[in-house]
Order: sequence, then structure tokens, then C-alpha cells
Amino acid sequence: MVHFYFGKRFESARAGVRLVGVQCDKCGRKYFYQLARVGTGSADAPYYLGRSAAAISSQEQSQHDLEKRLTDEAELVPCPKCNWINDELVRGYRRGRFRRFLATRANRREDGESRVTSPHPDPLPEGEGDLRTRPET
Ligand SMILES: [Zn+2]
Repeated sequence: MVHFYFGKRFESARAGVRLVGVQCDKCGRKYFYQLARVGTGSADAPYYLGRSAAAISSQEQSQHDLEKRLTDEAELVPCPKCNWINDELVRGYRRGRFRRFLATRANRREDGESRVTSPHPDPLPEGEGDLRTRPET
């Protein structure tokens, strides 16, 4: 029996929701919103050894990631009374945005360096207008 694959990558994702209580910094009104996030995890099982360990590890990672995101991150939900958004929510929202930014950068690095090209197209060669207006013979 021949195996052509030498390992397996386990990826897992876990979705969760947390009810977040907020007290408005401006008017003191208390309100709640639902924070929904997805945690991700991955682990490799080289040569198919330790497959169950890798599967469990990726699940634990995604659970841990989910808990961290639900704790650290926030949505920009304004106060229903005065429309104020607490700084705490803005910071939490930015943490989520920054995470995506880092993920994008990491993916790009794997693709290799991208070359910077000039945004300006080459100028038209001189005399092109002459060609167009030259009378036909
Ligand atoms: Zn308010």
C-alpha cells in the first residue's frame, strides 16, 4: 500500500457569542449587545502520526482563540439614548481590525516579495501625433 501524502493539517473554527454589558460614559445608560466571533486553530500531524493529538490541539487553539476574541474585542455599538460610543468599544473594535491586518500581512509574505511598479504609464513617444495626421498616399 502506497501513501502519497506525508502529513495532515487539521484546521478548526469555532463560533461563539457573548452578551456584552456596556455603561455609557456620557449619560450612564446601561445597554447590552451581542458580540459574535469565530476563533481559528490549526495543527500539523506529520507522517500521519499523532493525528488525534493534532486534531485536539487545533480544536483547543480555536476554542482559546474564540475566548480571547470574545474577551478582547468589541463592536461599535452606540448608546441607544445618546449615540455615544465608549472608548473601550473603539479600542476593542480596533484590536479586531488589527488582527485581520496582521493576518493579511502574513499571507502576503508567504507569496514572496511583491515588486513595486510605477503608477505612471510610459509617456507617448514623440511624433505619434504626426503619424496619425499623416495624409494617406
Ligand atoms: Zn449615552
